[in-house]
Formats: sequence, C-alpha cells, structure tokens
Amino acid sequence: MAWLCSRVAFQTCRRTFSRNAIRFSSKDEFPDPLDHATGLEKRELLAAAAGNFDPYHMKAIEISRDSTKDTPNLVPSAFKSRIVGCICEPDSAHVNWMWLHDGQPRRCECGHWFKLTQVAPL
Ligand SMILES: [Zn+2]
Repeated sequence: MAWLCSRVAFQTCRRTFSRNAIRFSSKDEFPDPLDHATGLEKRELLAAAAGNFDPYHMKAIEISRDSTKDTPNLVPSAFKSRIVGCICEPDSAHVNWMWLHDGQPRRCECGHWFKLTQVAPL
C-alpha cells in the first residue's frame, strides 16, 4: 500500500509542470508599470515622471550657517511633526536627532535653528 501511495505522489508531481505563453503586446515589450500601478505607487510614479524624484522630502538639505530664530532653516513636512537630523559640524560623524513640531522653531545644540513648513502630502 505504501508503494502505491508513493507512486501516486510521483505522478501528481510530474503533472504540476505547465508552460504558458504570455504575449505582452504586438511590439514584444513589457507593459508600462504606470498602467498597472494604483494608489500611492501610482502617485509616486507620476511624481517621478513630472521630475520630482524626492516626493517625501527625504534628501538632505543644505542648511544656512547663520540661521536665527526669526530666519530658521525650513524643513518641509506633510505632517504636524518630523524627526530631523543635524550634522552640526561638516566633518562630524555624529547626527543630532530631534523632533520638530509645527509652529515651534527649535534650536539644535550647535546653534542652528529649524522650523517646519507645511507641504501638501503626496
Ligand atoms: Zn546641530
């Protein structure tokens, strides 16, 4: 009986292999990912197509060395708060992380001022 079960199992395994031909288009090209994307992924692709490769403002910004409380470095955010990392010295390997809240300019330990600016969410 055990021999019969193993024979049946092997026959089942052999039949699982199948081949299907997929035809993409008449030009034999892959379909455009923009046609298949939905939701947030589609908005990211549309932003990239429009030339915006940093839709979440994640790239490091160049800060002003002479920022004050009245003229702080502006940090874009689509939310009411954001974590900001300040590299206080140009050759420093340490990043000073701090929370920024909307409407409250904040001074880093090195003396630079930061403030959130509201931007539209993606
Ligand atoms: Zn700093």
